[in-house]
Order: sequence, then C-alpha cells, then structure tokens
Amino acid sequence: MDEAAAPAQGEQARFVEAGRQLFARPWAFVRGVRTLSDLPPPEAPEIAIAGRSNVGKSSLVNALTGQKALARTSNTPGRTQELNLFASDTPLLLVDMPGYGYAEAPKAAVAAWTRLVHAYLRGRPNLARVYVLVDARHGLKVVDREVLDSLDRAAVSYQVVLTKADKPKAGELHRVMAAVEAELARRPAAYPEVIATSSLRGSGIEALRAAIARLAAERGIDLPD
Ligand code: GDP
Repeated sequence: MDEAAAPAQGEQARFVEAGRQLFARPWAFVRGVRTLSDLPPPEAPEIAIAGRSNVGKSSLVNALTGQKALARTSNTPGRTQELNLFASDTPLLLVDMPGYGYAEAPKAAVAAWTRLVHAYLRGRPNLARVYVLVDARHGLKVVDREVLDSLDRAAVSYQVVLTKADKPKAGELHRVMAAVEAELARRPAAYPEVIATSSLRGSGIEALRAAIARLAAERGIDLPD
C-alpha cells in the first residue's frame, strides 16, 4: 500500500466503525413539528435529510438506523408536512424534512412546505449539514436545484446522496455521479463528494454512516472508539 495513503485509510476505518456504532444505537422518533418554535433549543448539532417525494428518504432513514419502520415509507407522496425529529442517546439530532416537488400537491401545501423549510434553513444555527437525496437514475432536477440554491444562499453545508443506486446500470450510475459532482463543484455550500446508496441492497450505507460520524466528531460530539 502507498504509505502516504495508510493514515487516511486508518482514519476512514475509524469513522466507518464510529458510524456503525452511532447508528446501532436505539434511534427513536421524537416528534413532528410544523413551526420552528416547536423545535428544541438549538444546542446540539443536528443533521437534516431532504429530497423529492418518493426519492427513498424514509427507506434511507430506516436503512441508516437499521430499523424497518422508524420512518414511515409512504405510498402517499407529499403527505407529510412536518419536520420529523429522530434522536438516540447521543446529542446528535436527525431531522427528516418533508419531501418536496410532488407534482400533485395543492398550492397551499407547497407554500407551507416552502415557508417551513426556508425558515428552518435560515433559523437553525446548529444545523451541521443537510443531506440532499437525489434519485440515481435521474440526477439533479429543477426542484432539487431550487433547494440547493436556497442552501447556497443560506450558507448551509450540504452533501448530495444518490438513492436507489441499484436501479441504473453501473455505467449510467457513474455518468450521473460525475454530472452531479461537476455541478456541485460550482456551488459554494456543497460538499464535493457524492455518496451513492441503495437502501434495498444496503450499498453505500456504511459510507453515509461514516460521513455522518465524521461530521458529528467535527462538531464536538464524543463518539465511542
Ligand atoms: P420517500 O417518499 O422519499 O420517503 O420514499 P420511500 O422511502 O417511501 O420510497 C419510495 C419508493 O421507492 C418505495 O416504493 C420504495 O420501496 C422505493 N425505494 C426506496 N429505496 C429504494 C432503493 O434503494 N432501491 C429501490 N429499487 N427502490 C427503493
């Protein structure tokens, strides 16, 4: 092995293990909130998960935490209009944001989503990063770009996570990843690397857990060795 690469690999292995342990903890639903004033005081670091309706957000939250029914996988896209809070016995809070871009959502629901999400993104100083989920078959869509624009404007750090990576062929997956990464390189608040995941197959989940553990450690959360 290249000697220079060894420390970085050792560090990554530590975060893989820390991520595994972080999500082996008993994560539970805390509550759903419709207004910012119902959120807990912004004391502990929090991460948020966002994405278009039906992108596979609930499935990913369940895969991350190894719990089949923690987040409701819904057949009614766009139904949930709340920020759903999840926590375990570490200070890190996980916020599942309502899905966006549901074509048949009534205008009032879209307006409510926009108000809540923008208020949340602007008003949460403890928000460490938003994981923006994007379907691996389609790459970034107009509605995703609107959300990334708001995150860039609010200077909220975000990382794109591809979902359903089992669906496209390998070549197509690489093409979509490269196109998304090229676009992210021009965006000021974007984390440059994309993580491809499949909740169905379990691929990429370890890498995503490790990325979250690394972020938690950077934000001062003590994780077990
Ligand atoms: P949400 O609306 O974003 O919470 O999406 P869900 O988690 O409810 O998933 C939407 C649909 O995509 C469901 O039919 C899931 O079974 C399917 N799905 C979610 N994740 C995956 C995946 O990794 N691979 C495949 N093939 N399908 C998935």
